[in-house]
Amino acid sequence: MIEAAPDSNGSTTLVIFGASGDLTRRKLVPALASLHSKGRLPLDLQILGVARSDMDDEQFRAILAEFLGSEGMTKPSPEQWAALSSRIHYLHGDVTSLQDLEAVKDKLASIEGNGGSHNRLYYLSLAPSLYRSAMSGLGESRMSEDFDGWRRLVVEKPFGTDLTSARELNDVAHSVFREDQVFRIDHYLGKETVQNLLVFRFANAIFEPLWNRNYIDHVQITVSETLKIDERGDYYDQTGVLRDMFQNHLLQLLTLVAMEPPHAFEAEALRNEKVKVLNAIRRIRPDDVGRHAIPGQYRTYRDESGVSPESDTATYAAVRLHVDNWRWQGVPFYLRSGKALRNKSTEIIIQFRSPPHMLFPLADDEDIPANTLAIFVQPDEGFHLEFQTKTPEAELQMRTAELEFHYHEAFSGQAIPDAYERLLLDALNGDASLFTRSDEIEQAWSIVDPIIEGFSLPTAPRPYYYSEGSWGPVEADRFMLTDGRAWL
Ligand code: NDP
Repeated sequence: MIEAAPDSNGSTTLVIFGASGDLTRRKLVPALASLHSKGRLPLDLQILGVARSDMDDEQFRAILAEFLGSEGMTKPSPEQWAALSSRIHYLHGDVTSLQDLEAVKDKLASIEGNGGSHNRLYYLSLAPSLYRSAMSGLGESRMSEDFDGWRRLVVEKPFGTDLTSARELNDVAHSVFREDQVFRIDHYLGKETVQNLLVFRFANAIFEPLWNRNYIDHVQITVSETLKIDERGDYYDQTGVLRDMFQNHLLQLLTLVAMEPPHAFEAEALRNEKVKVLNAIRRIRPDDVGRHAIPGQYRTYRDESGVSPESDTATYAAVRLHVDNWRWQGVPFYLRSGKALRNKSTEIIIQFRSPPHMLFPLADDEDIPANTLAIFVQPDEGFHLEFQTKTPEAELQMRTAELEFHYHEAFSGQAIPDAYERLLLDALNGDASLFTRSDEIEQAWSIVDPIIEGFSLPTAPRPYYYSEGSWGPVEADRFMLTDGRAWL
């Protein structure tokens, strides 16, 4: 259950830079409205949207009203929306202009009034190319100073395009804010099932003893999308699947599966353990990338607008990683993600080892499937545990059976909150557990960068084509077969 952010003595203002954009309309404001309708937003919260488009408060509120209740979020009643929207303001301004930031400061002073503390959460819902100047501007205009209340900064993904740019961005962020003020978003961490993975592992005594190389054969993590690149050809052709999905979401999921139990469910303890896993991941050398990673490209990708007709950008990748520590030695982690695939789903599959000795007679070509635990992050959040059972009456014939847990069935009537609800509330509450720390981001880039570099070498395999609606290139299946395994 999401707890209410405490009312503060004074005012709290959420300042959204990039307020006329897609994320604000589709996610941030609907999430705030959903929280408000559940009574979980502080009643003194003011919201100030800033972007260059010219509009007044009423026009801004009217645009926002169109998207309330979208994508599974709770729609506020007209009265609830009227109460919240009276606290939503808009100011047109360019985040790269110090003069405009001075105007934002004046506007904030008028919203905040006198007396008490004045807390501010700055949310950069801007194109990543603007993060740097936005952060510097907040410093130069002294909007980061926190003598009269806390100041926090939320930065959207992607944070950098490689290790060098992420380090530069971290340097700029740290020249203006302390690390504990910076909240880097990876919205996957706000998903209920992702958090439930920690509860599953660390609040149950029966799984943790098996959670290691002695009992687990390998781990598969799949994030598949059915969508192609939409209108985002220019962006995607420079980005590719490794930057878009692996550096953030897939590696985050891997760290949660592989991490040691933190001593407390608290930001620093949790993130320390995640960083240890990232540190322990064996780096793939660029000249060796062909042995560990398979690039793919959907067949019509080069015809998309904004994409170079000779583009070698990977829209799919399958990667084998190893976590070189005591717990995971010899256990491969297979990660795959792609666009234009058959299903939209995110799942983690833990495949356990086969029984050490088979009592039951099997035909020569028969093999008993090993136990698997599937963790579905989306859609249909839940867990499936597969095990062998005897078929009734048949003479010692076996069949795979499943124990299933589905969130929507177990908590029927209780909508699963959108990730942005959780993350906005946590940032308002100052809880950084589900946000990415600077060293975590840099470690993740240092894992992905050499693979991206390897894919661009003349000796590397060109992306293998795959048909839209398939499960990716057949080479990714062969890649698993050479390890004696298959995608599940
Ligand atoms: P949009 O392009 O839709 O919005 C960008 C916003 O920035 C607009 O409001 C634009 O408005 C404003 N803007 C541009 N230049 C300036 C400037 N100089 N000063 C002030 N405002 C400016 O992008 P999205 O909303 O889609 O994405 C925002 C961020 O969120 C990106 O980093 C993206 O990667 C990330 N993100 C987005 C997701 C989504 O679903 N949309 C999902 C996950 C992450 P105007 O032109 O009026 O100034």
